Amino acid sequence: MLRQIVLDGKTLEYELTRKRVRNINLRINPDGSVKVSCPARTSVAEVERFLRSESAFIFRSLAKVSSRIDNAARPSTYEDGEQVKVFGELCTLHVSPGFPFKGVRYSYPDIYVCSDSPEKTQRLYEKWKRQKLRDKVSEMLEYYVPMFERKGVKPPAAVAFRTMTSRWGVCSPSTGKITFNYNLFETPEELIAYIVVHEMAHFLEANHSERFWAHVEDVMPDYKARRKLLREY
Ligand SMILES: [Zn+2]
Repeated sequence: MLRQIVLDGKTLEYELTRKRVRNINLRINPDGSVKVSCPARTSVAEVERFLRSESAFIFRSLAKVSSRIDNAARPSTYEDGEQVKVFGELCTLHVSPGFPFKGVRYSYPDIYVCSDSPEKTQRLYEKWKRQKLRDKVSEMLEYYVPMFERKGVKPPAAVAFRTMTSRWGVCSPSTGKITFNYNLFETPEELIAYIVVHEMAHFLEANHSERFWAHVEDVMPDYKARRKLLREY
């Protein structure tokens, strides 16, 4: 089950599972989720004492996860010639105030922005990028939601987008809401689809149990290979 603990003034969410293990085990997943397993008789107080003793390691690992998410060829200067990624593919940003259109035009592997300053380019590019990602995710939801409906899951009540530093997606089964990270825009489509399926599967299992992964595999048999991709972003 999901639990929270305050470590060094920061709230950490972790998933606690009791199983046939000898010691308390800690795992930080590439998506920034924290898993703890412990023997059946271990109390929550003992688990919390353990987490406190590991807090430096935990936050160091989580910082690594977020820097991985931050380093995926995101634009930084918004200048003519900058290399950026669009759904995992390297593209070139072309900026000029003289283009015969307003806003952004995209024709792989080129992105054209009609702009006379990096600030304006950033504003136009980010707006375009967010819309592209929202379109891509809704396309994928249209494809995958019916597969979950067959398992008795209702379509998400709300789909939101946010820039997050350590999670690709968040599912809240109690409100029916899924939140996706805007930074998914730079990652390959196979990865975005995996996050869509992963978050939808949380409506069936609000944990990362074997049952959860069985649902993911059912809908996306090659999910393990996609999950490995996550480590590169
Ligand atoms: Zn999850």
